[in-house]
Amino acid sequence: MRTELKLRIWPDKILRTKCKAVTNPDANIRRILDQMYTIMKINRGIGLAATQVGLDICCIIVEAEDRVFRLLNPKIIKKEGTQIFEEGCLSFPGLSLRIKRARSVWVTAMDEWGDPLDIEAEGLLAVVFQHEIDHINGIVFIDRIPLWERMKILPVLRKMEREYGVC
Ligand code: ZN
Repeated sequence: MRTELKLRIWPDKILRTKCKAVTNPDANIRRILDQMYTIMKINRGIGLAATQVGLDICCIIVEAEDRVFRLLNPKIIKKEGTQIFEEGCLSFPGLSLRIKRARSVWVTAMDEWGDPLDIEAEGLLAVVFQHEIDHINGIVFIDRIPLWERMKILPVLRKMEREYGVC
């Protein structure tokens, strides 16, 4: 069965959902990844997680520094250093936040054919991996800022809630 996926915007509850691992990557999973990639490109994103298209499965797409990753069950196994980056999120239109994250990350995952992958990333690529892997754990980037800063963006979040509804 073909399902049409669409971008989910805050405060959609799916963004708070912890995803299930993919055990058997099949044609359906690859079709989902294709659709996610298209949605990401249309919206000019550089990363997208399954929760952002309404699915609770551990799939992410990352496209940065001329590399595309279509990953299942990605996990950060090691982090090093710190960096601060100005991040956006397709599920929070118009919001950009400076977030402190690790400078380098080591990620294990499975590719869409079921083969294991080990990835080492730093800089922007490491930021995108951390942002997207947060998503599949039900964590969004506003969770990564201090409380006082969250208070500052409250009007923006309230506006989003009015516009996109409390689901
Ligand atoms: Zn995001």
